[in-house]
Amino acid sequence: MVVVLRADATPTQRAEVARLLTNPGIVETPIPIHSAAGDVYCMPNSAIRPGVRALVAAHPAVERIVPIATPYQLASRTLSPQKTRVRVANAVFGGGEPVIIAGPCSVEDEDQIFEAARFARGAGAQILRGGAFKPRTSPYSFQGLGLDGLMLLARAGAAAGLPIVTEVMEPGLVPAVAKLADVLQIGARNMQNYPLLKAAGRSGRPVLLKRGFAATIEEWLLAAEYVLAEGNPNVILCERGIRAFDPQTRNVLDLACVPLLAELTHLPVIVDPSHATGKRDLVLSMGLAAIAAGADGLIVEMHPRPDEALSDGDQSIDPATLRRLVHQGRVVHTALRESASLPLDDTAAAPFTTPEQLVASADL
Ligand code: PEP
Ligand code: MN
Repeated sequence: MVVVLRADATPTQRAEVARLLTNPGIVETPIPIHSAAGDVYCMPNSAIRPGVRALVAAHPAVERIVPIATPYQLASRTLSPQKTRVRVANAVFGGGEPVIIAGPCSVEDEDQIFEAARFARGAGAQILRGGAFKPRTSPYSFQGLGLDGLMLLARAGAAAGLPIVTEVMEPGLVPAVAKLADVLQIGARNMQNYPLLKAAGRSGRPVLLKRGFAATIEEWLLAAEYVLAEGNPNVILCERGIRAFDPQTRNVLDLACVPLLAELTHLPVIVDPSHATGKRDLVLSMGLAAIAAGADGLIVEMHPRPDEALSDGDQSIDPATLRRLVHQGRVVHTALRESASLPLDDTAAAPFTTPEQLVASADL
């Protein structure tokens, strides 16, 4: 349940509401939050007894009380039916046009990241990605260049005129990474790292929140809720495949989550067809499928020389494939948008035959 305060509520009125909410009729302490929907208090529906609820609702500083059936509240579409737009420089996630993020899995050296940035820009991508702090499954794999890598990424992005997104793995590093990165990525392995989510929520930067390998949609939205509850409304959800039993692909891309999330939340949703499949040959078709499913954007791994990549080369596309993806992605998006409002041509439909007519016409 969310108690939304009026924007013009005075400090005295706010204090009165706060006092009402400490009433013994309230079982769990409501949390005050500066949210996109205004100043609110969030609490489970069951936390407030009906009598106390009526008192709170009648207070002149209270604009509305929104009962929300799900444990995530600020992320719920019930609270904010309009899609949230997350602006990153000139790109707007949730603004109607899919935003393409592209770049290598890892920043490897100056030449590689500058070249990748040029190719990303040339292909029409709007944001450059590159990992500096890498969450590698094995401690013996390349761990990324750390802050030096982040600096190279920032310089490459600036040279190409592209904002940058990079992963941050530790709460303590959030302020440093937020100084240089336009968007903070929280990786699949850290989706439920609550101190990290809170730190990212306080960073002032948009957060790209990847879905955990085995996270339910509700767990994922509750992870987003941690960022929102810190007063940061700019969360972009990223489906990157979930773990299943078949090793043919690295993960299984849950594309159904894209239209489903459009019903459950107002947050924009993008898709990562690279980590979802683990195979570069599948990235183009799955990227296009994601756009057709209504994704607000894509994040793809592109390397100037994929076979030489220090991480995730198998799933990295080359610059030419990225150009094709950006071009065909626009075509798919435009075709679907324009055809959605066309009247259906009834004359083209097959004439309806009743079962009786079928039996009568059959040569039995
Ligand atoms: C990545 O983007 O390189 C990455 C490690 O992604 P994920 O957290 O989805 O595995
Ligand atoms: Mn990767």
